[in-house]
Amino acid sequence: MSARLLEGRPVAEAIWSDVEQRVASFVGRFGRPPSLGMVSGADEAAGAYGRQIERQFTRRGLAVDVRDASVDTMIEVVRQLSDDDAIDGILLLTPLPAGVDAEAAAQAIRPAKDVDGQHPANLGRLAQRRPAFAPATALGGLRLLQHYEIPLRARRAVVVGRSPVVGMPLALLLIDADATVTVCHSRSEGLAELTRAADLLCVAAGRAGLIGREHVKPGAVVLDFGTNLAADGSTLGDVQADAVAEVAAAMTPVPGGTGPTTVAVLAQQTMTAAENHLDRD
Ligand code: NAP
Repeated sequence: MSARLLEGRPVAEAIWSDVEQRVASFVGRFGRPPSLGMVSGADEAAGAYGRQIERQFTRRGLAVDVRDASVDTMIEVVRQLSDDDAIDGILLLTPLPAGVDAEAAAQAIRPAKDVDGQHPANLGRLAQRRPAFAPATALGGLRLLQHYEIPLRARRAVVVGRSPVVGMPLALLLIDADATVTVCHSRSEGLAELTRAADLLCVAAGRAGLIGREHVKPGAVVLDFGTNLAADGSTLGDVQADAVAEVAAAMTPVPGGTGPTTVAVLAQQTMTAAENHLDRD
């Protein structure tokens, strides 16, 4: 058996197509594009990701306002963007500069502009199953499952990883979609036994090759969020792709699976924040 590959690009394109239509209508109504305020520290990888976001956003008609911030100015810069009427969404590029209080920085984001679900109020609302901005990578995973019509209701889902960026919000989104969810982490015992119960296995541990054939129930769907840099510069997932492809029914490739959906979802949430922002005024 060789698993069907769940490519992220068609999912991202479908999301971008929705965004582009909404951008056109927004510009027609309000005479300006939706705008993301992006706060950048000194980290090189974060800066590269920021430029990738800026390129994709501007190509599709959204505006990006990049603000550089240091340890001393970070909170103030985020506050200014929260109060700026020309800004609809805010993204803090991580990792933040060393010495910045990450919790205070996230809390300085106005929740209505928190398009990457970094403010605790949004994670809380997600847990309450109320409308909320979710972290874009986690929501991108859900969008991918919906795009490929993977059944979720009453399915057993296992999420490996409990970070507030991927694992935890993904578990909450899957619960909201009526899956029965187990969350595993580094203190879980008997990982293979736990993951083998999954109809849907989602892995966001940041450990290259953590999940092998013995972790996967035959016929399961496997989502791999891992992006681990190998010594030769290539990107490796958390799942041993060749071995798991022999037992899974479907799985995301790395790269090209969950990755491409993230920026598209970020743009879609920026669009929603912009519509809410100006409809309120
Ligand atoms: P993180 O903050 O380091 O969290 C990793 C999680 O995995 C933690 O909850 C940790 O458990 C758990 N874990 C670590 N080793 C484990 C093991 N051996 N068995 C079971 N659980 C284990 O990482 P993250 O930010 O969530 O990112 C996870 C992966 O997704 C990384 O590879 C990252 O690069 C990738 N990522 C991808 C995207 C994308 O666009 N596709 C976006 C963001 C992140 P504890 O809580 O007990 O420590």
